[in-house]
Amino acid sequence: MKNIAEIRADFPILSRKVYGKPLVYFDNGATTQKPQCVLDAVDEVYESYNGNIHRGVHFLSDMSSEAYEKAREKVRSFINADKREEIVFTSGTTGSINGIAFSFGERYIKPGDEIILSHLEHHANIVPWQMMCERKGAVLRVIPINDKGEIILDEYYKLLSSKTKLVSVTQASNALGTILPVKEIIAAAHSVNVPVLIDGAQGIQHGIVDVKAMDTDFYVFSGHKIYGPAGIGVLYGKEKWFSELPPFQGGGDMVDKVTFEKTTYNELPFKFEAGTMNYPAAIGLARALDYVLSIGRENIASREKELLSYATGRLSAIKGLKIYGTSDRKISTISFHIKDIHQYDTGMILDKIGIAVRTGTHCAQPVMDRYGIDGTVRASLCFYNTKEEIDTLADGIEKVKSMFA
Ligand code: PLP
Repeated sequence: MKNIAEIRADFPILSRKVYGKPLVYFDNGATTQKPQCVLDAVDEVYESYNGNIHRGVHFLSDMSSEAYEKAREKVRSFINADKREEIVFTSGTTGSINGIAFSFGERYIKPGDEIILSHLEHHANIVPWQMMCERKGAVLRVIPINDKGEIILDEYYKLLSSKTKLVSVTQASNALGTILPVKEIIAAAHSVNVPVLIDGAQGIQHGIVDVKAMDTDFYVFSGHKIYGPAGIGVLYGKEKWFSELPPFQGGGDMVDKVTFEKTTYNELPFKFEAGTMNYPAAIGLARALDYVLSIGRENIASREKELLSYATGRLSAIKGLKIYGTSDRKISTISFHIKDIHQYDTGMILDKIGIAVRTGTHCAQPVMDRYGIDGTVRASLCFYNTKEEIDTLADGIEKVKSMFA
């Protein structure tokens, strides 16, 4: 494995200064920084072979189309899907969930049917289902969490019934860091023939994702959270579902034959890709996945585990600091609050020291409601972070405390 200095040198932005201070980037849960090879891959498209995909007979269009389809193949092998037909590009996790919520609702949902979510969901995995439920007269059921921020599996098992039509849960909580027991969740749903969608927005970048081993029906993630460009995401679905589901958007490329009377749809996966896709970003994402593989997913996971343990030790030793999300199974995310200091004040002072953290509800208001708080400060770490940066954060928090003393 490359050493940490070599890894950091791959990410040009990490050497910049903010307000004259070295940047400490702890907002990886919101978006990750990009290695030079990803920046180069996107530049290369526009500089040397840009042409709209799947449309032209000309050289550039052929080259772009080929690179785009290679990117699909890269995603397929990265998540260990069976077939390229099961990989659909979207605009991101939000785009993927909205698409499935619409199609699934149109095809299968009737009044009184139920969709199960967990209390840990990001708004992107709540609102699209709520919109679908309103349209179709269906009902959302929610798996509760305990004080550590873990879902209560026994309560989940009780919620599963003949009314359940789909379970949609996150792989890891963006607000608290908790990793969910997705294998158990999927096995229980399948035992009553209910499909499952896993929101991998906070899962894919922290370890090995194998959709076949997981046996999930749908898996979604965003390129920008795994060192790729923004504006590209993935919707994986088992072929059996994709063949039955109607498209969620109409337009160019997703069609076979169009007349004013009737349209027939293109084969998979194109049936779900309407209009000009963000092919430069898909190509950039493929390069990001190659980069992750070159570092090694086990190496990334073990380095992040070490950073999480160090950061948890340093932060929990600070008087007046409370960590929300204390499960033993966590991604490298720490949500906290300092007694009597509003999270925005903490975030703004840390920013002036060059430390980027996220403050607020993290698009997970129900999680905050569960604890009766209006937000936290969140430090989300990844493998390019260092223990020295964690020390800078701990010193910064002491400074915040002294300013408010
Ligand atoms: N789901 C989870 C768990 C997330 O953390 C996020 C973003 O933070 C999303 C969904 C939405 O991702 P995007 O904004 O890339 O669509």
